[in-house]
Amino acid sequence: MPTNIESSDSLNTNGMIWLSPPHINGNEQKYLQEAFDSNWIAPMGNNITGFEIDLQNYLSKEVQVAVLSSGTAAIHLALQLLGISNGDEVLCQSFTFCATANPIIYLGAEPIFIDSEKDTWNMAPELLEHAILNRIKKGKRPKAIIVVDIYGMPYKAKEINAIALKYEIPIIEDSAEALGSTYFGTKSGLLGDIGVLSFNGNKIITTSAGGALILKEQKQKEKTLYLATQARDINHKTHYQHSEIGYNYRMSNVLAGIGRGQMEVLEDRVSARRSNHRFYQDNLMVLPEIEFLEEPDGYMSNRWLTCVLTPSYEIRESIRLALLNERIESRRLWKPMHLQPVFENNLNFSDGTSEDLFNRGLCLPSGSNLLEEDLKRIISIIKTALS
Ligand SMILES: *Cc1c(COP(=O)(O)O)cnc(C)c1O
Repeated sequence: MPTNIESSDSLNTNGMIWLSPPHINGNEQKYLQEAFDSNWIAPMGNNITGFEIDLQNYLSKEVQVAVLSSGTAAIHLALQLLGISNGDEVLCQSFTFCATANPIIYLGAEPIFIDSEKDTWNMAPELLEHAILNRIKKGKRPKAIIVVDIYGMPYKAKEINAIALKYEIPIIEDSAEALGSTYFGTKSGLLGDIGVLSFNGNKIITTSAGGALILKEQKQKEKTLYLATQARDINHKTHYQHSEIGYNYRMSNVLAGIGRGQMEVLEDRVSARRSNHRFYQDNLMVLPEIEFLEEPDGYMSNRWLTCVLTPSYEIRESIRLALLNERIESRRLWKPMHLQPVFENNLNFSDGTSEDLFNRGLCLPSGSNLLEEDLKRIISIIKTALS
């Protein structure tokens, strides 16, 4: 049994070590209190404005930020801003969480899945270009590309962006897992035409549920807020008038208060996750069965989750089950979208890379509130399982 169940900063709730639990700083409550005191218990108010400014100050003064009810909602609106509609084709990274792809379906459009390369585990530039040429030959020019910074590792932006530019296809960067990462000094979320963030409970910072769009133009932010608040025609003051279908996707002012408190500690959360990764690497590197994903030159990953590759499905399972037996949660890497039953009829361009990652990979507990004694225990269980 863990000895630190009583510690408020420990993630050992119910004696369990979780993969990526929330990590509250304390100041969140100050902003929550402000929302209560001012009675702005609504999808508008000072915390929303404040959280958007905090994100903008952190990311870049050149961008606009719109905070929303979830990362999924952000992707849905990003596609809508790019004019995606019924029958359009959207090229989408296959190695990801389903929320990257589902909004394509919400709009009646068609996802086409692209496999990953081995350096970052994100969209493979060669397969992307191959797919674009294939679709153009069929008379179907893809309308958008959704690329992901998976587990916090930025995608190959120089290569992917050059292809997108060549064929004039806009890029949505799903940076839900990568707030705090950088690519040659540029922050994740700023690498594509539109950036997406998530503040779900398991992400590097959280609002319990929430997301954001990072936009390059003021007009796009206005359109986002219009669509996120039921598409009310602005010229009608006396009644609600609608000429378009909208959504209820704005973030709550209460939850934005949690976000403001979390922004105060974002840098700490990034260094804690990176330090977890370093600790695992320093201690597990000696094992021939364990392989880590290195940061290529110029890449800085927030190491949202520490992932390892093992030689086989069986060895991976033996580690996962040994950890579970000690009430420690680990998780297989994402099952690629092109292998999901729900997408079995969608076209894909794959070479087996993400399928192999799915078969051999494991995410280890990676919370920023993980204690060194937890890390040591996890490492010793892995060593025993492999001996
Ligand atoms: C978490 C996540 C999302 C969705 O975010 P929600 O806020 O949970 O809707 C999208 N893409 C990726 C890669 C994610 O990990």
